[in-house]
Amino acid sequence: MRTPLIAGNWKMNMTVSEAGAFADELLKNTLNESVEAAICAPFIDLPVLIEKLKETNIKIGAQNVYYEQSGAFTGEISAPMLKDLGAHYVIAGHSERRELFGESDSDVNKKAHAVIEAGMVPIICVGETEEERDSGRHTAKVAGQVKAALEGIAAEAAGELVIAYEPIWAIGTGKSATSDDANAMCTSIRTEVEKLYDKGIADSVRILYGGSVKPATIEDLMSKSDVDGALVGGASLKTDDYTALVSGA
Ligand code: 13P
Repeated sequence: MRTPLIAGNWKMNMTVSEAGAFADELLKNTLNESVEAAICAPFIDLPVLIEKLKETNIKIGAQNVYYEQSGAFTGEISAPMLKDLGAHYVIAGHSERRELFGESDSDVNKKAHAVIEAGMVPIICVGETEEERDSGRHTAKVAGQVKAALEGIAAEAAGELVIAYEPIWAIGTGKSATSDDANAMCTSIRTEVEKLYDKGIADSVRILYGGSVKPATIEDLMSKSDVDGALVGGASLKTDDYTALVSGA
């Protein structure tokens, strides 16, 4: 039985004071406890979120990491640093990082390894462009990204992983995939994981959909067999919407 996961991805939004106010507001709401809630925030917001939400079940994650442990990598943050802070999740390979910052499949794989070695859980993002979908290459593209990201990851860690299917054309566009299309891709990702490992691992990996998810669309999405939750950008920035997403999941 997979626990549903609603993970907010704040992207480059929220100052430390705004993050603190968000957490204070969230503490006034009652979150649905049968769902796991997470917030992946900018690095500087992590301490305030971790401190203020420590008595709740809300897990805090980072949006990126560098794969080396420490050293002369000016401006980077390592997995052991995030672990020490109390982060639980780290997003690896978001399409914005792949497209805007040139992250390769191999970088994503190294990041996933570093996150697991540090004792955290990567949320590995995959997804096709509009052009790849229109030309029918979406399934192969995503399967290739999954395979590359999981290269060398041991079976014990693989079962704990989170994979987020985020079609690039649906991110921040208001143009969400239909719940059936999202489910079909989540099913094909699960099949790929089964090919790489086995059915037990494929059944325990959580696969999220991301791309213009809103409180109004979450229930339909969650009714689908292979969608285990959502990675939410814009709609995770307001406490009411975030709470509604967790309630609706
Ligand atoms: P939106 O929910 O704003 O479309 O963003 C999705 C996303 O990229 C989450 O990682």
